[in-house]
Amino acid sequence: MSIRYSKSTLSLKTSEIREILKLTEQPDLISFAGGLPAPELFPLDKIIEINKEVLETSGRAALQYSITEGYKPLREIIAKERMGNANVKTFSDNILITNGSQQGLEFSARLFIDKGDIIICESPSYLGAINAFDAYGPKYIEIPMDEDGMIIEGLERALEEHPEAKMIYTIPDFQNPSGKTLSVKRRKQMVKLSEKYNIPIIEDNPYGDLIFEGKRLPAIKSFDTTGHVIFLGTFSKTFCPGIRIGWVCADKEILNKYIMIKQITDLQSSTVNQMELAAFMEKYNLDEHIDEIIKVYKNRRDLMLDSMKKYFPKEVEFTKPKGGLFTWVELKEDMDSVSIFKEAVAEKVAFVPGISFFPNKDHHNFFRLNYSNMEETKIIEGIKRLGKVLYKHYN
Ligand code: PMP
Repeated sequence: MSIRYSKSTLSLKTSEIREILKLTEQPDLISFAGGLPAPELFPLDKIIEINKEVLETSGRAALQYSITEGYKPLREIIAKERMGNANVKTFSDNILITNGSQQGLEFSARLFIDKGDIIICESPSYLGAINAFDAYGPKYIEIPMDEDGMIIEGLERALEEHPEAKMIYTIPDFQNPSGKTLSVKRRKQMVKLSEKYNIPIIEDNPYGDLIFEGKRLPAIKSFDTTGHVIFLGTFSKTFCPGIRIGWVCADKEILNKYIMIKQITDLQSSTVNQMELAAFMEKYNLDEHIDEIIKVYKNRRDLMLDSMKKYFPKEVEFTKPKGGLFTWVELKEDMDSVSIFKEAVAEKVAFVPGISFFPNKDHHNFFRLNYSNMEETKIIEGIKRLGKVLYKHYN
């Protein structure tokens, strides 16, 4: 067929990684590849009950169109409770409801990026963001990370060399894929740099609530006094992803641009889903539910890290996340995690090769493991299998 597609459609590539991940669809394979929350933790009975209540008491309004910004009581709860937990003082008028934070990422690229513009991000960064941004043809400057997240001297140098850069994209808490967290000191430094260079920070923060030890860190947005920080939140990991509710929290002037984009994209997020989520949080305490999630994920993280210590060659390095869903594994520099992936699948275990998390595609010796969506006995067995594959390349 010679249908004349748009240039932007023609530039979309099928992801090589998505293709190879199809190999993981085998019943007896233990896959640490996905990034899914554990479905057994979804509060299903309560959702069924709330669904009935909302439809019985406000069914016609719930099934009607509603305003683009989102259901006001939901925005109020988000401003007060969810943003409050992240130490951000804000109001419902600074919140736009989106279809997950993925939509916030796509809107951010649409808002700021023309072809050839520079995005500064962590190295590695979130695959789904890179895919959304790629559609707008940006260039990426990747900033290395250490145990405290993005190295600020690297960011500063990048901004000195490229003051025309259009946005800083960061996942500060328990980053996907590395599990690393940006220190509070660096959060403040990053905000200062964004003010100096007048560049927005997109703070993508789906995991901040899932902290295994201690208290949640203040969001980067909490240090923002000039409106340079745009916070993207979501209920995907703290409630359930199928409801597709996330939000953008930003300065009113910037938020108005997001609202315009939301309107032309899909008018609004689902009225009924928004009303049900608000009713859930009015009736039940979401933080108590999050505590239950944390208990399970912490246990799974401990089990995975302990098993890695036991069954992986000593030379293999991996991060020790203090929250979130992932650990990140570093192999010897000359190793290629895509070929290790193929060997692992033959042993009936899988992960996501690291290459797709590097927007400039230039690091081959990493991979990501997910522990949230795997029952305990399978974590031990899967890591044993993976250890066996890795040992063939060490010694
Ligand atoms: N950002 C990051 C860093 C993520 O890991 C994810 C989901 N895996 C998203 C955004 C998108 O999540 P959602 O659209 O479900 O809110």
